[in-house]
Amino acid sequence: MIPMVNLKAQYVGIKDEVERGLAETIENCAFILGPNVQAFEKEAATYLGVKHAIGVASGTDALHLALIAEGIGAGDEVITSAFTFIATAEAIKYVGAIPVFVDIDPRTFNISPEAIEQAITPKTKAIMPVHLFGQPADMTEIMQLCEQHQLKLIEDACQSFGAIINGKQTGALGHAGGYSFFPSKNLGAFGDGGLVVTNSDETAAKIKQLRNHGSDVRYYHDVIGYNSRLDEMQAVILRAKLKRIDQYNQARRHVAHLYSELMADLPLITPYEDGLGEHVYHQYTLLSDRRDDIMQALQAQEIACAVYYPVPLHQQNVFKAECADLSLPVTEHVSATCFSLPICPFLSDDDIHKIVGIIRGVLKA
Ligand SMILES: *Cc1c(COP(=O)(O)O)cnc(C)c1O
Repeated sequence: MIPMVNLKAQYVGIKDEVERGLAETIENCAFILGPNVQAFEKEAATYLGVKHAIGVASGTDALHLALIAEGIGAGDEVITSAFTFIATAEAIKYVGAIPVFVDIDPRTFNISPEAIEQAITPKTKAIMPVHLFGQPADMTEIMQLCEQHQLKLIEDACQSFGAIINGKQTGALGHAGGYSFFPSKNLGAFGDGGLVVTNSDETAAKIKQLRNHGSDVRYYHDVIGYNSRLDEMQAVILRAKLKRIDQYNQARRHVAHLYSELMADLPLITPYEDGLGEHVYHQYTLLSDRRDDIMQALQAQEIACAVYYPVPLHQQNVFKAECADLSLPVTEHVSATCFSLPICPFLSDDDIHKIVGIIRGVLKA
């Protein structure tokens, strides 16, 4: 059996460090915003090259709190992609803003700067690009649009921890960036977790307040906040994995490049690297008109595979009514033909050959 992500293999490599850290935490009983959260925030800020990193309860919360802190609210339009996980748009809805979905680039699956430009109205307040599957969005173009139109830039970097563009970390280029530590993400905890980064002291102060019941000083509350703190136990795990994140991401790139090399002669579309930044392959996603046949053959051999994402956001039940007139042809085509193969730092070359062999069997039959 080959899973999408082999979390067990990763755990084996950090077992001693993690168990020591967890035991210490239990011994010390500093469970909420303890020393590991503080240390992780510092280490993450250094790694990501930002002034502030604030641990929160999930990636969804990271985006939600970032939008509040940046002053996005009722009736504001936020331009984003429909080819993403629902949480991107949920965060926009939580603050009462309107997600304006625009089409993607057919090769990178990332939001199209041309489409963004066409969607800007006087009500547009922010752009929320997603660095989908680990490939940085076209930040040069997007940042230029933000500057030109005075828009906030809030990056959904939930799938791209460690990916670099223009010499900077994804998530660290805009006014604020959100990361997810959902276990299967490139940097994953042993449960939920998230992070907001920013270079603004003001935004950082607001996020710190918002994640902790609107409070700077215990039992004194300035705004209605949330209970959204990064858990101390998760911070222990994240500190161990952060030390190794470059190694993990390099291993992912190796897997992806071997897949692409072995499938170069097959009639399917392997992931495209636009060269603007470095893809860290949260997912290895291809396009084929025969995806159902391929997936069936893989599943028959106990190889996991998945469709990210089968229904774009503008066609989801929850958005159907408000997006009734919206057509996003590239997004719709990609959703109808995409599928993702197992990828993680611990997928062996033998397994990659085996997986490609099965795909070859389907396509050459
Ligand atoms: C995972 C993910 C999120 C949400 O993260 P959670 O930690 O699960 O709340 C948001 N956006 C994208 C693109 C994601 O992949």
